This record gives sequence, C-alpha cells and structure tokens, in this order.
Amino acid sequence: MFKLSKKIQSLPPYLFVEIDKAKRKARSEGRDIIDLGVGDPDQPTPRHIIEALYQAVQDAANHRYALDQGMPALRQAIADWYKKRFNVKLDPATEILPLIGSKEGIAHFPLAFLNPGDYSLIPDPCYPPYKGGTILAGGNLHLMPLLEDNAFLPDLKKIPAGIRKKARLLYVNYPNNPTSATAENDFYRKVADFAVKNKTIVISDLAYSEMAYDGYRPASFLETEGSKDIGIEFHSLSKTYNMTGWRIGWACGSAGLIAALAKVKSNIDSGIFSAVQLAGIAALSGPQEHVEQMRRIYQERRDALVGGLNSLGFNVNPPKATFYVWIKVPKNNDAMKFSALLLEKTDIVVTPGVGFGKYGQGYIRMALTVPKERIQEAIVRLKKIL
Ligand SMILES: *Cc1c(COP(=O)(O)O)cnc(C)c1O
Repeated sequence: MFKLSKKIQSLPPYLFVEIDKAKRKARSEGRDIIDLGVGDPDQPTPRHIIEALYQAVQDAANHRYALDQGMPALRQAIADWYKKRFNVKLDPATEILPLIGSKEGIAHFPLAFLNPGDYSLIPDPCYPPYKGGTILAGGNLHLMPLLEDNAFLPDLKKIPAGIRKKARLLYVNYPNNPTSATAENDFYRKVADFAVKNKTIVISDLAYSEMAYDGYRPASFLETEGSKDIGIEFHSLSKTYNMTGWRIGWACGSAGLIAALAKVKSNIDSGIFSAVQLAGIAALSGPQEHVEQMRRIYQERRDALVGGLNSLGFNVNPPKATFYVWIKVPKNNDAMKFSALLLEKTDIVVTPGVGFGKYGQGYIRMALTVPKERIQEAIVRLKKIL
C-alpha cells in the first residue's frame, strides 16, 4: 500500500531468508543444530562488569537522559585504554565519541559527509552496514574486491580516476569480518597516502582489535603518522567483553570528523544509558584477565575447527584474529547451495559468503561461537557426507 523510498529499495537484498527459514524449521523439528552462523560471543559478560551495571542502575541520577556526547569519565577511560594499547594519545573531549554500539556510528557517519553523486569505497565482502549506511545517506558504492590473491586487502591502484575524484569515504576493517584477514602498518600507510592525495576520509573498523591469537596484536590505523587528520576509527566493547547486547562502543580520531558524527547523532539519539556507560568504564579500566581467557578459548576452538577441516581435505589457514574461519567451498560449488546442503544433511548452520557481497561467492564463514566439543561433533558430521 505504501511505496518504499528509493533508498530503502536500493538496500542490498537480505540473502539469508532461505537459510533462516530452513534453520527455524530444523529447530522446530527438534533437530540438533550446530550453529556456526552467528558472530555473537556465547560466553557471558565478565562478572565485575555486570556488578558495575547493577550498582549504577540503583542510582536515580543514572535514570535520566545521558549527556549525548558520553560521560567525561568514559571518554577518559577510552583515552587511557587507547594510549596503553596503541600508544596513541587522544583528547577525550574532542577526539572520542561514545556510541550505542559501533554499528550505530558506522551507519550514521555517512550522513555527515555524503551528497548525491558522492562515492564510498567499500570492501566486498564486508560487514553489511558499510553499504547500508552509504545508501541511506544517498551516496553511491564503489566496491573494492577483497581477493585471496591479494591477502584479502583492497587493491587501491585499481580504483578508477573518475571514482577517486568523487570518493569521500574509504572503509577498511582489519582484523576483517568475514575473511579474518589482518593488515599491518605498511598497508595503513598506503591507505593514508591514498586518502590524503584524493581528499578521502578513512573509516577504520577495529571491532576485532583484541580478538587475536598466538600473541599477535592487531595494529590501529591511528598509529599511522598524519592519520588523525583524515581518519576515524570505530571500536566496540561487544566482542572484547562479550557485551553485544549492551550496545556500547566508540569512535575516535580527527576532531572534525568526531564533531560531525556528534552533530548527526544529536538529531537522532540521546546518548547511551548512563548505567551502561559506567559498566563500560568498568570493562575498560578493570581487570583484563578475562580478555586473555577469551583468546585462549577461541584459539582452542580455532585449532579444533581448522585441524578438523584440514583432515577432511580442506585447505584452511588458521586465522590470526577474529572468531571467523573463511572457507573455500569444495569443488567451486555455489556458497548458498553448499550452506543449504550442510544444514539439510548435517544440521550445521554456516553463513554463505555471498551474504557479505558478490566477491564472497565461493566461500562460507564459520564462527567459533560454540564450545569445542560441538566443533568436534561438527567435524564428525562433515566427515560422513564429504
Ligand atoms: C561485531 C562487529 C561490530 C560491532 O558492532 P557493535 O555495534 O559494536 O556491537 C563492528 N564491526 C564489525 C565488522 C563487526 O563484525
């Protein structure tokens, strides 16, 4: 009856409809589903963070509208964490902005900078809000394929001159969802040089900065000299502290970019629940043993999954970071069909790579968000059908 806006109509189609339907049906039939599809930690939020929320909730002062730019104490805790982690100094007042989850900021940011005819340079496959945010802001997408031959990094040299002129935003996300690829400072140097030359804003999504294995420590774009003039980086407490449902993250970087995002948000939301902000301070400033324990858990699962898959004839490298394993579908089968087949024959749910963009075709993503025993069980089931 009501006609959808052109923007809504041009959002990428949701490709998981069929899989979701099959998954619901399998569950309702009481089948024993192993769900490797969702990128959502299965472990609980650490106790001391829950306690901080519980305390904060009792205080009526926290029941009112929060400051929409975030509590000064939270911004300070973020600045301290950032200095310690990356040795980068941020001004808590102007270079940090708390968010209602980083997805919120990522999706709203393009509203501050895109005009009709402008382009965003977007990796493909990618986390869906990069495309969604640009489309909702009325901008155009230029896709940068992430290919195995180039270690799943975008090849900036391939971006046509005509597009460079109109490109206002460039997205990078390492450690990467869905490919689990990582990037180092030399890559960020190239990104910064490209951005300066083409007057493009760099958006770096570092949601997986703490989820890395074998002692590996992911780098930040903001470690790059001059990056703070051209870039904004998005961080999340969701994965590091098992807080996906709490909705808290932050943006940091160029004061001008932060102010622009704050202006957009001041017209849309009224800040993060103060009790959640106080819990966020407890997460960032409190004991960090839990983070090390999280790495150990995922690393064990990773080894079980990768070892198991390779024993079945797959050729998978253990990811250095993220809780995803990006797997080439055997015999170049269609990712969607292969995922449907796995669900039907083995009761295993995986995510078809095409759901993240057309260059994800030929791959599936498995998430390490189930206990090791379930991963071992998944390998047993796979062995039976392969
Ligand atoms: C999970 C994830 C986020 C985090 O989103 P929140 O809104 O902070 O929960 C951001 N970027 C990527 C690539 C992710 O996978």
